[in-house]
Amino acid sequence: MTEDASAKKDLAVVKGTKDILPKEVESWRALERLARETFELYGYRELRAPVFEATELFVKGTGPTSDIVTKEMYTFTDKGGRSLTLRPEYTPSVVRAIIEHRLDLEVEPMRYYYMGPMFRYDKPQKGRYRQFHQVDIEVFGEKDAAVDAEIIEMADSLLRKLGVAGTETLVNSVGCRECRPAYSQALREAAGRRKSDLCPDCQRKAETNPLRIFDCKVESCQIVARSFPVIQDFLCGECLSHFNALLVFLNQYQITYRVEPRLVRGLDYYTKTTFEIVSSHLGAQNALLGGGRYDDMMKDFGGPNICGIGFALGMERVLAVAELAVPKRKSLYLAYLGDEAKRTGLELARYFRANGVECLVEFKNRGMKAHFGRANKLEAAWVLIVGEDEMKKGRFGLKEMATGRQVEGTREELLAFLRDK
Ligand code: AMP
Repeated sequence: MTEDASAKKDLAVVKGTKDILPKEVESWRALERLARETFELYGYRELRAPVFEATELFVKGTGPTSDIVTKEMYTFTDKGGRSLTLRPEYTPSVVRAIIEHRLDLEVEPMRYYYMGPMFRYDKPQKGRYRQFHQVDIEVFGEKDAAVDAEIIEMADSLLRKLGVAGTETLVNSVGCRECRPAYSQALREAAGRRKSDLCPDCQRKAETNPLRIFDCKVESCQIVARSFPVIQDFLCGECLSHFNALLVFLNQYQITYRVEPRLVRGLDYYTKTTFEIVSSHLGAQNALLGGGRYDDMMKDFGGPNICGIGFALGMERVLAVAELAVPKRKSLYLAYLGDEAKRTGLELARYFRANGVECLVEFKNRGMKAHFGRANKLEAAWVLIVGEDEMKKGRFGLKEMATGRQVEGTREELLAFLRDK
C-alpha cells in the first residue's frame, strides 16, 4: 500500500459506523417528523439526555449480566479519572433524568420520546452497527396493561405511516421478582442437563442468569433453548392477569400478534410485558423495534417507586423497509450576468429566502447558457433571470424548468406566482 492509501485507510470511517449522506437525509427526516407527530398525538414530550453517562448507570440499569454490559459497551476513562460510557440504550438515562429533576412531581404526563445515536461494540453486519440510531419512547406511572397495548398500537400506527409492510408482533411476559426465581431455577436445571450442548458463554449463563441463554445467537443453543420450560407455566396471578389483559386490549386494537415464550429481549430489567415487531423483509437482524415493562428500575435507582414501560425502534432497520414518499425539493436558481446583476441578484435572493423560497446562488461568472446547464444539474425547479434589461425594468424573468414556461414580473409578483405553485 502506498503511504497515501494507508493514510486514507487510517482516516476512513470507523468500522460499524456510517455517514448519512444528504441524499439519504430526507428519508431520515421524514421518519423523525412522522415519529414526532405520532408520539405527540399520544401526549409524549421530547427529553434529550447526554450521549455519555457514568458507566455505573448502565451497569445498574441495563444489568451486569446482559450482553450489552458484559461485551458491548464503549467505556473510557476521562481526564478526571471517571469511567464514562457512550450510551448503549436510552432507558437508564431517562430514569436518571426523572429522578434528578423530580419530573414525577410535575403535572406534565410522564411520556417521553427521544431520537439519537446509541453505541454498542457488537460484530457489525447488515442491520447491525456500532453506532446506530434509535427512536425511543417511555411511559411512567401507568400500571394498567392498557398502556402496554397502547404503545404497541402506537408503534404499529407509526410503522403504517412509514409504509412498513410485512411485520409480525411478538409478545411475551417475563414475570416479576415474585415469580421469575422459580422459572430461573427450572431453566437452570434444564440448562444443566444439556450443558455439553451449549456454547461456553451459555454454560456460564446457565449458572449466572439462565434467562439470558435465550439471547444467544448460536444456532445450536437456540435449538436447545426450544426444549426449555416456558415462562407462562410459572407466572404468578398478577403477572398472568396482566398478560391476559394485554392480549384482550391488543385484540380490541385488532393487532395481530404471536405469543413468543422465549422473547426475553437481552436486558435484565424487564418485568411482565416484553414485545418486538419483526420484519419479514430483513435478514437475520429482523427486529424493527422492541421493548417492555420495567417496573423496578426507578426504585432500584433510589428514586420513587414508579413503574415504566417503553420501546426503542432501530432507525436504520426501519428505513431499510419503509416506503416513504419523500417530497422533491423545489429551489430557485439565480442566473445573473455581470457584476451589477450579481448585486441585484443577491438582494433578490435575500428577499426570496426571507419569504421562504430556497435559492441557489453560485459565485462563478457564467454565461446564460452555462447558468441553465448548471440549474439543470442542480435540479432547480425555477431559474430567476437577472440581466441588464431586467434590471432597467425592475422586472425579472422566471423560468419553470419542468415545462419551459417563462413569466416576467416584479419580485413581489414573482413571489406571489411561486407561492401559488
Ligand atoms: P434494543 O435496544 O436492543 O431493545 O433494540 C431496539 C431496536 O434497536 C432493535 O429492534 C433494532 O431495530 C435496533 N438495534 C439494536 N441494536 C442495533 C445495532 N447494533 N444496529 C442497528 N440497530 C440496532
